[in-house]
Amino acid sequence: QAHLDRIAAVDADVHAFLHVNEHALEVAADIDRRRAAGDDLGPLAGVPLAIKDVLVTTDMPSTSGSKILEGYMSPYDATVVARSRAAGLVPLGKTNMDEFAMGSSTEHSAYGPTRNPWDLSRIPGGSGGGSAAAVAAFEAPLALGSDTGGSIRQPAHVTGTVGIKPTYGGVSRYGAIALASSLDQVGPVTRTVLDAGLLHDVIGGHDPHDSTSLAHEWPSFAAAAREGATGEVLKGLKVGVIRELPDSGFQAGVSESFRAALAAMEAQGAEIVEISAPHFEYGVAAYYLILPAEASSNLAKFDSVRFGLRVDVPGGTVEDVMAKTRDAGFGDEVKRRIILGTYALSAGYYDAYYGSAQKVRTLIQQDFADAFSQVDVIATPSAPTTAFKLGEKIDDPLQMYLNDVTTIPANLAGVPGISIPSGLASEDGLPVGIQFLAPAHEDARLYRVGAALE
Ligand code: GLN
Repeated sequence: QAHLDRIAAVDADVHAFLHVNEHALEVAADIDRRRAAGDDLGPLAGVPLAIKDVLVTTDMPSTSGSKILEGYMSPYDATVVARSRAAGLVPLGKTNMDEFAMGSSTEHSAYGPTRNPWDLSRIPGGSGGGSAAAVAAFEAPLALGSDTGGSIRQPAHVTGTVGIKPTYGGVSRYGAIALASSLDQVGPVTRTVLDAGLLHDVIGGHDPHDSTSLAHEWPSFAAAAREGATGEVLKGLKVGVIRELPDSGFQAGVSESFRAALAAMEAQGAEIVEISAPHFEYGVAAYYLILPAEASSNLAKFDSVRFGLRVDVPGGTVEDVMAKTRDAGFGDEVKRRIILGTYALSAGYYDAYYGSAQKVRTLIQQDFADAFSQVDVIATPSAPTTAFKLGEKIDDPLQMYLNDVTTIPANLAGVPGISIPSGLASEDGLPVGIQFLAPAHEDARLYRVGAALE
């Protein structure tokens, strides 16, 4: 009830939610009854959970921020949603996002933007701005996001929250409306590292419904966070800092906060090691070929027949109906990426664009392998700037894309990443995050390091 009251009080301004669960109190009462009857539901039973609208749910519409799916009801729950329900979490609602998770500001939502609770004239990051804003505004204690190129970590950075992109395959993608299947991962958005660990323990682990889900024995991430909280992990920890990451493009206050966090780690016994990751900076270019290519293929299923919107064309052919529906249902950014993706995949250009991008992806994976032979974690600022103003980058896609420079490499390599708050920028007093990256399967290391710094 407290969270519903908070939503009623602030969400007209913040617009974190696309849908609020009208049955939330009944679900909560049912969990109380089950607990009273002796059901052991685990530590998160009864805790409200905000769910990014990219995740399908049977009891609330799932739109992925698009008009083409307006009002769409899924016949099944995403695995992460089903597991959350089984653990007694209370679905609080569906959160706003850039259409099909394409964007860094949530301004590309077909349902209007979300605003940053720290300053309503600014963006909450994207594509998962709704989940991050809901957590930052105390509308929800926990949220689920998805991260294809930074959509959990960058919103965490600009809203002063914690966001984790798990190892690729660590959390099921079943029921996460696909953006780019080789990059997508679902993960937690929370106010503390321990909260993220508790939620990750609920949603993670092998799922036979997702063919890329890893059959791996994961340790408890909540336990890792509790271990890390003693700070002991920082003693002798080798933290890699990337030599080639350009200082230009980074806001001074973001760089300052980053250096201060490194100094604090050093003071507690960590060793800062300069490493070389020469291909890291080509991540954005490779990503914006690979992602549109996969997205254009994934979005082909919105054909006016199987899902959502259908625009009638009296006397028209199937092709006419499909074209009119896709024209009316998709926003500009989605169309831009479909065009880019189909172009990059087309005969005659495939090798030059998609093929080259895949080679760069391999080189970035090699950079990570080399780096992790020398260090335990890599540290970067989570994003180049603090929250920018609504409207500032909306007409300049390239500027919007450059926001993802530090987050994208982890998706291309499949390694886990965390963004935790590292303070406020000196020039504007807005939140800044520090990102840590670890080798694949080593998500627990990120929980230890993150909790040590909280
Ligand atoms: N900003 C990135 C993009 O627009 C991130 C997307 C994501 O992680 N879903 O593609």
